[in-house]
Amino acid sequence: KAKESGRGRALAFESDMEREVRERRELEADLREAFEYGRLSVEFQPIVDSRSGKVVSSEVLVRWFHPTRGEVTPNTFIPIAEHAGLILPLGNWVLRKACAAAAQCPELESVAVNLSPVQFMDPNLVGHITSVLDETGFPPERLVLEITESVFLRDFGSAPDKLEKLRDLGIKISLDDFGTGYSSLSYLRQYKFDKIKIDKSFVDEIGERSDGLAIISAVIALAHNLGLEVTAEGVERQFQVEALRTLGCDTLQGYYFGKPHANPMKITQVSSEDWEDRSPSTAPQNSL
Ligand code: C2E
Ligand code: MG
Ligand code: MG
Ligand code: MG
Repeated sequence: KAKESGRGRALAFESDMEREVRERRELEADLREAFEYGRLSVEFQPIVDSRSGKVVSSEVLVRWFHPTRGEVTPNTFIPIAEHAGLILPLGNWVLRKACAAAAQCPELESVAVNLSPVQFMDPNLVGHITSVLDETGFPPERLVLEITESVFLRDFGSAPDKLEKLRDLGIKISLDDFGTGYSSLSYLRQYKFDKIKIDKSFVDEIGERSDGLAIISAVIALAHNLGLEVTAEGVERQFQVEALRTLGCDTLQGYYFGKPHANPMKITQVSSEDWEDRSPSTAPQNSL
């Protein structure tokens, strides 16, 4: 009996692996088709000035609604797009959508676009970006590219050069998910960025761990000393807003203000009238 269940388990394990491989292949084919037939979409999540409460920027996030699986998250399908050789056209498409939408929103100082390490490694990256900026008439100064540390793990030689070229064009570079990698501090020392985004995991620890506030406070001070602007991501609660404002965090992003939405300016979730009381400038900004 023991032998039987052992074999059963081995078979089950094997078929799990097989299923995983098959599902990945199916998902890859479905993604290719969805992209070719224009079935992907984008949403925008507002980034709010912590002092005025105004939407000053918006981050574009790609969306895929699968006909049978429902919503598939970008954390699942971006790696598939990278593997399938789809990330360059997909990334360019997202960039074009972002610039075109933001060009219609003069109130937005900037629009933020995530860049995968594979896009960053593309020798033609700067060319692709400049042609999208030309096509959409969007000024480079209003474009923020969000990259993560993984960019530097993949791209050994050319990263500094590429960052410099982008920044020379006036494009802003933001280090996303700050604090989650292995050597965030050494990258800050090695490269020149314009902004950092403190990862949600740190924001979650405000009020949850006694040292949560100490860490965030130190990160904000460090970034400011280096002349970098600081955004906190994944802000969901009023007390997090209060703490981050007190610490001088420049901009805030998260469900507290709004979930990703088709309208780049839309604040959907602010529950507290408290914010508006202290910041009269948060009058509804639904300009689309
Ligand atoms: P990210 O760039 O760090 O984006 C933030 C993610 O956190 C988004 O998830 C957003 O919807 C979610 N989020 C924002 N505020 C909150 C909050 O208050 N609470 C919680 N629980 N979540 C919040 P999403 O859209 O699923 O994207 C996941 C990741 O996929 C992004 O992380 C980014 O790395 C990647 N991604 C999304 N769109 C693109 C894209 O167009 N290109 C590339 N290369 N990557 C993308
Ligand atoms: Mg991002
Ligand atoms: Mg992030
Ligand atoms: Mg993140």
